[in-house]
Amino acid sequence: MKPFGYVRAGSVEEAAEAFAAHRGARYLAGGTNLVDLMKLGVERPAVLVDVTRLPLDGVEELPDGSLRVGATVRNSDLAAHPVVRDRYPALSQALLAGASGQLRNAATTGGNLLQRTRCPYFQDLSKPCNKREPGSGCGAREGVHRDHAVLGYSEQCIATNPSDMAVALAALDARVELYGEGGARSVPAAEFHRLPGDHPERDTEIRPGELITGVVLPAATAGLPSAYRKARDRASFAFALASVAVALRVADGTVAQAGIAFGALAHRPWRAVRAERALLGGPATPDAFARAVDLELAEARPLRDNAYKVPLARNLAVDVLTRLAAPART
Ligand SMILES: Cc1cc2nc3c(=O)[nH]c(=O)nc-3n(C[C@H](O)[C@H](O)[C@H](O)COP(=O)(O)OP(=O)(O)OC[C@H]3O[C@@H](n4cnc5c(N)ncnc54)[C@H](O)[C@@H]3O)c2cc1C
Ligand code: SF4
Repeated sequence: MKPFGYVRAGSVEEAAEAFAAHRGARYLAGGTNLVDLMKLGVERPAVLVDVTRLPLDGVEELPDGSLRVGATVRNSDLAAHPVVRDRYPALSQALLAGASGQLRNAATTGGNLLQRTRCPYFQDLSKPCNKREPGSGCGAREGVHRDHAVLGYSEQCIATNPSDMAVALAALDARVELYGEGGARSVPAAEFHRLPGDHPERDTEIRPGELITGVVLPAATAGLPSAYRKARDRASFAFALASVAVALRVADGTVAQAGIAFGALAHRPWRAVRAERALLGGPATPDAFARAVDLELAEARPLRDNAYKVPLARNLAVDVLTRLAAPART
């Protein structure tokens, strides 16, 4: 591993300043992704700016009924938080579906959002990868791509985003709060990650040196019936082959509010806006759910080895929608 410097920041401003002062700096949170990538030589930071001592480890109910989660809140703590379990169950379920107990104890909200793809070519320095080394090619395109994207990919990159948590945040209309040179700003979680286009080296809309300070879950989705389901090769400790997060409000048998996001199908959590629009104001029945999900997934362009993802994602989504609607229909 290349030698690197280490700075421990005590405040958000200090962290941003330390980052700006050191060329080749990276923020370090739980380290469960960054340190692995450093060992592989994929990441070669000159300096690590440790953000784990920042005062961003709280979960706070705000006066407008929303919930702010600090960037350094550990995945285990967030999953177990009583307000999250009660009002945003899809988020708790998504977190618990990720990684292992030990990893969730170390992993943070900010780090989870910025974890890199698990594409094996990205992690292997001997292989071409436009994300790791722009212009070098994409090893996965003609190689092993069973786990790769079926939606929104480009000629440059077919990787998927691996985060379970981010899928739930997208469906729940959360916002990501950022701090950087230009001050504080926030972006919708569903728009935080990018599609690869011609710049797969950029995973998200974050600007150089910006720090994630937290995530806000809005009052508008608090208390909605919501759920997360994930299909994977093993029952635990495995990344998603396909997953879905759904928040659904049904009134008098009619869909009054729907947030649907797919995981492991694209370079970012895929907010299913076509399906949501098709459902709004219509009957909350399994047939209507299937039609809406099919409409969304009609856009899929499976690759040689991953056509299975389309029916898998469809069945997961129809099942979750049907289960969430069931108490309201009886
Ligand atoms: C074996 C294994 C299995 C896993 N399985 C799953 C799974 O099934 N589902 C899943 O979702 N995840 C899974 N993960 C990934 C895990 O969830 C992530 O590694 C973890 O969430 C990253 O959080 P961290 O705090 O350790 O981030 P770090 O590794 O510290 O950082 C990750 C990235 O985020 C940046 N960063 C961190 N905090 C901030 C901040 N506040 N502002 C700006 N930048 C920041 C870092 O610079 C780095 O680029 C798995 C990981 C492993 C090793
Ligand atoms: S899919 Fe993306 S991450 Fe994987 S090899 Fe191709 S360019 Fe790299």
